[in-house]
Amino acid sequence: MVKILDATLREGEQTPGVYFEGHNKLAIAEKLDSVGVDIIEAGHPLISNNIYKAVKQIANMGLKAKVAAHSRSTKKDVDIALDCGVDFLGIFYCVSNARLDGVFKKDLSYATEQISKIISYAREQRPDLMIRYTPEDTVRSNFDNVAQVAVAAVKAGADVISIADTTGYMIPGTDRSMYDFVTKLKLVFDKEGVAPQIAVHCHNDRGLALANAIDGYRAGADIIDCTVLGIGERAGIVDLAQLLVLFREDFSVTNEWNLLELNELYEFVSHYAKIAIAKNLPIIGQNAFTHCAGVHTHAAVINPLHYHSLAPEIVGRKMEICLDHMSGISSVKYGLQKIGMEDVEDTFALQVLGEVKTIGETGRTVNDLKELERIALWCRQNTEETA
Ligand SMILES: [Zn+2]
Repeated sequence: MVKILDATLREGEQTPGVYFEGHNKLAIAEKLDSVGVDIIEAGHPLISNNIYKAVKQIANMGLKAKVAAHSRSTKKDVDIALDCGVDFLGIFYCVSNARLDGVFKKDLSYATEQISKIISYAREQRPDLMIRYTPEDTVRSNFDNVAQVAVAAVKAGADVISIADTTGYMIPGTDRSMYDFVTKLKLVFDKEGVAPQIAVHCHNDRGLALANAIDGYRAGADIIDCTVLGIGERAGIVDLAQLLVLFREDFSVTNEWNLLELNELYEFVSHYAKIAIAKNLPIIGQNAFTHCAGVHTHAAVINPLHYHSLAPEIVGRKMEICLDHMSGISSVKYGLQKIGMEDVEDTFALQVLGEVKTIGETGRTVNDLKELERIALWCRQNTEETA
């Protein structure tokens, strides 16, 4: 069964200008837990005392989800993370020749030894700890380096190997495919007689994070990373709501997620991250289930599936009809029906439509049913006066 790792509190805080105060971090963790994610990445405790305190409190909240801390491959990072009482430790260290030579001034054998040593140390401290090793920028690193260090990490005690598309480089169906990468790495693990869980961490620089994550899942990835609103470094990572709905609706995943909690979670994170929810954001955005053009509305009113492939009710929403310059008579009749005016005559509906289109041409929509009521009254009185 696929596991969801939400990194809003860690990756999300790498969004420029985003910081969640400790009490808001706890609230976000609680909401993520009620949605039903499996792992909550709460932060990198070494970064600041406030993050340390938040990770520690979240780890002690008694959540159903595992609580994870981020850690460099150093004893100091591991000690402080374990002191927080987390049940999941994510250790990262790069293995690309370019970074080993240029940044760390170390070779691969040093890196392998350092990573193995730290993982063994963490394992000794806490036999029940879930340990993940991430070779940073995995997919652009030399594959043999990744394979060598990943196998050594598993032998030292890592339970999970995370494939990080740190720069959003992968493209499905090409020679940069996440599907192929996961498949190839699994073959190496089989040959070496190890069987770690595989996680995929996909960045969205090319707008392909979700597509790559699904590609990884289809190849057998066990854990998928995401954040609320897809926030994170640069263009961020996979969006939680889109991922869950896709799994539930299109991949028949039966995890017990409470998708009805998503709207409130997104409102909360959006408010405190000071990042507005784009109106056209799939699933959660204001327009995600709103029909506008007359032909769409006409068909959708008869049967929403004519223009929906996802039902808004999945996340507790309803189909909406937007009234503006694109509307047709059926949109207006649908709106009038909602304010209790059933079976109005066409001439009247056309009058209301005329008013609605004039408003639409000013760049405004009639979303408020109270306004529609006023328009209907205006038209009705005009008709009576001219009669
Ligand atoms: Zn990342």
